[in-house]
Amino acid sequence: PRMTKPRIFLPRLVAAMEGVEETYIMIKPDGVQRGLVGEIISRFEKKGFLLKGLKLFQCPKELAEEHYKDLKDKSFYPKLIGYITSGPVVCMAWEGVGVVASARKLIGATNPLQAEPGTIRGDLAVQTGRNVVHGSDSPENGHREIALWFKESELCQWVPAQAPWLME
Ligand code: ADP
Repeated sequence: PRMTKPRIFLPRLVAAMEGVEETYIMIKPDGVQRGLVGEIISRFEKKGFLLKGLKLFQCPKELAEEHYKDLKDKSFYPKLIGYITSGPVVCMAWEGVGVVASARKLIGATNPLQAEPGTIRGDLAVQTGRNVVHGSDSPENGHREIALWFKESELCQWVPAQAPWLME
């Protein structure tokens, strides 16, 4: 698995590398079917995180099972695997300082009825079993999930033109 630290190349941004993380964000099949792809990507883009990987992908059962292996004893696990493999998902790798926890805040609580207005789930969903988006829950899982869903060649290391306007 790919365990190298995410890198930003501009020397003057080296100081900003402190706390740089990467997180795996996935628009689940309901988000794709409901035409929410642009809306959801837009929220991370506008916030100022760096998009490193992006693809539309039909997830095989084995990959869904590996991704959700910590939940395999839960009663909803078979339904969850069926849900995630029911249609294409949008896989994304995002990088930034504190991106893991911040993305979880943007996404909102697991149960969309408890998610705050302004969050993705709070604004766009009503049920835990159809909660439109996934976000890694720790920096370690961010690395693990990006390595699981992406090949190294599918990830771009780049510096957006707006970088100096996002971080001093
Ligand atoms: P999160 O996605 O917010 O990190 P969990 O890791 O607890 O939440 O669960 C993973 C996913 O499993 C949830 O996003 C949801 O799609 C599904 N899930 C969790 N709990 C339930 C449940 N009680 N019923 C149906 N699906 C569930």
